[in-house]
Amino acid sequence: MGFVKAGLFLFLGLMGPVCCAQPDFTRAKAVTPAPADPAIMRALSTIEPSRIDQTIQALVRFGTRNSLSSMEHDLPPGTGVDAAADWIAAQFEQISSACGGCLDVRRDTFIADGASGGPWAGRVPKPTRMTNIYAILRGSDPEQAGRMVLVTGHYDSRNTNVLDARGTAPGANDDASGVAVSLECARALSKLHFPATLVFVAVAGEEQGLIGSAHLAHLAKEHGWQLEAVLNNDIVGGNTTPGDMVQLKDRVRVFSEGVPVAATPGTGTPHSRSRRRERLAQPPACTRHG
Ligand SMILES: [Zn+2]
Repeated sequence: MGFVKAGLFLFLGLMGPVCCAQPDFTRAKAVTPAPADPAIMRALSTIEPSRIDQTIQALVRFGTRNSLSSMEHDLPPGTGVDAAADWIAAQFEQISSACGGCLDVRRDTFIADGASGGPWAGRVPKPTRMTNIYAILRGSDPEQAGRMVLVTGHYDSRNTNVLDARGTAPGANDDASGVAVSLECARALSKLHFPATLVFVAVAGEEQGLIGSAHLAHLAKEHGWQLEAVLNNDIVGGNTTPGDMVQLKDRVRVFSEGVPVAATPGTGTPHSRSRRRERLAQPPACTRHG
C-alpha cells in the first residue's frame, strides 16, 4: 500500500473529480520539485500502510456503498452507504479526539432528486438522501485562516449496474483508497499547525454523477470558502483493470488549467495558483514508492 502514501497529494483540480480518462503521457512535461518541507516530511513518516489497508478493508465490509442504498430500509445491519458514512464520521471524530478536538467534523446531508432534471437524473430513480462528510482543521493564523485547501475522495461505490442499491460493490480502489487518503491526511496533518485551513472530505454520489462534489461546491460558494486548491483522490495507485496497460503507479498526475490562448511568454500563467501547486505537488516523497 506504499502507493497510497506516495500519492497523498494526488490529482489536483478544482472540484473536478477525475476517474477514468487516460492521460496523454507523451505531452507530459517535467517540473522542478519544490523543496520538501521538513514538518510535512515528518508527518508523512507517521503514515502507516497497515492502517490504510485497515481503512480500505473496513469500507469494503459495508458490502455496498452505492449511494442509492441510503433509501433501502431492510439492508443487513452494518451495510450500505449510511453505515459507511457513520463509520467515516466516527474516524474523523477519533482523529479529532487525539488532537484535543482540533477538527470540526460535519455532515452535509441533502436529497438528490432525479426529477430536477440534472444530467444524472437517470442514475437517481427516486429522491435519495446523500451525505458528504468533512472535517475542518482551522488555520492557526487569523489573517490566513480564510484560505482553504480541500483533500477529498468519494466513499460511494458501485458495481456493473450503477442502479443496484443492494448488490455487492466493494469499491476498494474506487474509491476507498481516496477516502483512506483523506483520513490519513487528517490523522497526520492534524498534529501540525498550518496558517491556512485544511478540509478533509469524503463525498457521496460520485458514481451517480458527481452529485456529492457538486453539492459541496455549492455549499463552499454559499459559505464563501476561499478555496485555493482541491486535491481530489480517485483510484489511488491506479486502475488495476485487467488488460489496462497504461499504468504509472509512481507518478502524481496533476490537473490544472491550460495555458490561456492570449498568454504570452513570461506572463501570468506560470505563476497562477494551480501552476504553483503543480510544482508543490512534486516533492520527492510524493513521486516515489513509499
Ligand atoms: Zn471513482
